[in-house]
Amino acid sequence: MTDESTAEAGRDFIRDIVAADLASGKHRSIVTRFPPEPNGYLHLGHAKSICLNFGIAEEFGGRCNLRFDDTNPAKEEQEYIDAIQRDVRWLGFDWGDGLHYASDYFEQLYAWAQHLIRAGKAYVDDQSQEEIRLARGTLTEPGTNSPFRDRPVDENLDLFARMRAGEFPNGARVLRARIDMASGNINLRDPVLYRILHASHPRTGAAWNIYPSYDFAHGQSDSIEHITHSICTLEFEDHRPLYDWFLDNLPVPSRPHQYEFARLNVTHTLLSKRVLTELVRGGHVSGWDDPRMPTLAGLRRRGVPAEALREFIKRIGVAKANSTVDIGMFEFAVRETLNRSAPRRMAVLRPLKVVIENYPEDESEELEAVNHPDDPSQGTRRIRFGRELYIEQDDFMEHPPKKFFRLSPGKEVRLRYAYFITCREVIKNAAGDVVELRCTYDPETKGGNAPDGRKVKATMHWVSAADAVPAEIRLYGHLFAAAQPDAANFASELNPQSLETLSGCMVEPALAGDHAEAAVQFERQGYFCRDRDSSSGHLVFNRTVGLRDTWAKVAAAES
Ligand code: ATP
Ligand code: MG
Repeated sequence: MTDESTAEAGRDFIRDIVAADLASGKHRSIVTRFPPEPNGYLHLGHAKSICLNFGIAEEFGGRCNLRFDDTNPAKEEQEYIDAIQRDVRWLGFDWGDGLHYASDYFEQLYAWAQHLIRAGKAYVDDQSQEEIRLARGTLTEPGTNSPFRDRPVDENLDLFARMRAGEFPNGARVLRARIDMASGNINLRDPVLYRILHASHPRTGAAWNIYPSYDFAHGQSDSIEHITHSICTLEFEDHRPLYDWFLDNLPVPSRPHQYEFARLNVTHTLLSKRVLTELVRGGHVSGWDDPRMPTLAGLRRRGVPAEALREFIKRIGVAKANSTVDIGMFEFAVRETLNRSAPRRMAVLRPLKVVIENYPEDESEELEAVNHPDDPSQGTRRIRFGRELYIEQDDFMEHPPKKFFRLSPGKEVRLRYAYFITCREVIKNAAGDVVELRCTYDPETKGGNAPDGRKVKATMHWVSAADAVPAEIRLYGHLFAAAQPDAANFASELNPQSLETLSGCMVEPALAGDHAEAAVQFERQGYFCRDRDSSSGHLVFNRTVGLRDTWAKVAAAES
C-alpha cells in the first residue's frame, strides 16, 4: 500500500508494543503471521486479523507469513486453502515466500512430543474422550488424575509410535501433556496433544494416523517460523500459559510472545465459520460467495472494493475489549470509496414507459452525460434521447401528496442531461394500473436548463426505450433481521427479505460495454456491479450498497 495510508494508519496497543520492541532492540525486525485453519472461507473478522498482521509487517518493515493451521483433516479442504490465498491477495497483501503449513512441521512436532514423553511430561491415555472430559473438573473443582498418568516412559513411547503407525482405531488413545490436573487454568489440566484420526489430509495424504491438537501445533509453529509477535483473538488469552509451558519445556528455536486483541463483531451478521458453513451446506445461501455472505468472496462478488474493506478495518481500530460494530459503518466506508471512483450510469429498476408526444417519430439525438461529477478525468459519454423513454415507476404519482415534487399530471420535471418534460396524459390498462405516460418536452431546455430561468423541483434519471438494454438486478438486505442474531438459532434469524430480484429492468447501453467487474453508480439508486451470472444477452447486476447514508444518521442520533 501507499506511504500515505501508512502515515494515516492509527496506532493501537499492539503497534505500540511492536514499536517499543524495535526501539529497545528486543527485536531487530519483526515477523507476524496470519494463521487460518482451512475449514471454510475467510470472513470480515478475518479481514481484521489480516490487516493487522500484514499491516504491521508493512508499516514496520517486517515480514508476515501466511500459515495454514491444518491440523484437523476431518474439516479441512484444498478448496479452502485455495480460496484463502485468493482472498488474502485480493485484500491487497502479499506473503512473499512466507507460505507455510503446520502440516510441514508434523515430523518436528512428533519429535517434540517424544521429547516431552522422555522428560516425563506427556503420557498416553487410554480413556475415552468422554471420560477425559468428565475428569477435567470445573472452574471451581480440580480435575482428577488419569489412571494412565504414571505410565512408564518406554511404554508411552511404544504406544505413541503405534498410534502413529495406525495400530489403533480412532479415539482409542490420546497423548496428553502431564502438567497439573488441579491447575486453576483448565487448559493446563493435562491437555490433549495428539489424537488418533484415520483421515486423509489435503497435504500429507495418508501419511499420518495421528494429528496434533491446535494448541500443541500453534505456538510451536510460530516458534519454528521465528514469529516475534504472535497476534490472536481474546479467546486464546487463557491458552497463553499453555503455549508458554510448551516453549519452556521444549528445545524450540525461538520464543514468540502472544498478544490478544478483540474479535470483530458486526450487527446483522454472524462471523463464525461454523455458522457460515451451515448456511452454505443447508442451502440458505447460494454458496460461499453469495453476495449476502460476510465472506470476503461474497463481499467481492457484491462489489465491495478491497480498499473500502481496508479503510473500514483501519477506522474500527484494534482494542482489547470485545464490541460490536454497526454494519452501517461498514456500508459507509463502501459508499465513500465507491463515490470517489465509480462512474455514473442511468438504469431504471422498475420501468414506466413515457412517450414524448411532440418529439418527432423516427428521430433521435445524442446528448452528453458526465461520467463523474467530481472527477472530470473520467470524461463524458453520449446517451441517446428519443420519443420513447423509461422512467422509474416511483417517480410518478397520479394523485401526489403535497410534497411530492416528481412527475404527476400537469407537472414539469427535468430529465437528467436532457430536457424538461410535462405530463399530459395517464394511460391505464384494464386493471387500472398506469402503463404509460404521454408527455411533452420543451426543446428550448436542452441540457436541462430553461432559457427563461424557470425552475423545476425534480431531476430524474431515465433511459431511452430504443436502445436501453434489459437487465436483472439483485437487491440485497441484511442476511439476519436482528441486529444481534443468536448464533445458536441462526436459521430462524435469517431475514426472509434479504434478496429481491428485479427482472425487466432497463439500463443504458454503456453498461453492456463497461468493464465487467467495474463498480458503477446507478444515479439516484446506489452502487452496483455486474454479477458473474451475466452472459451475453443477459445482464445481471448486484446492488453493492444504496446511496442513502444510514450510518451518518445513526451517528448523528447518538451524538
Ligand atoms: P471462526 O470463529 O469464524 O471459526 P476462527 O478463529 O476459528 O474463526 P481461524 O481460521 O482460526 O478462524 O482464524 C484465523 C485468524 O483469524 C485467527 O488468528 C483468528 O484469531 C482471527 N479471527 C477469526 N475471526 C476473527 C474475528 N471475528 N475478528 C478478528 N479476528 C478474527
Ligand atoms: Mg480457530
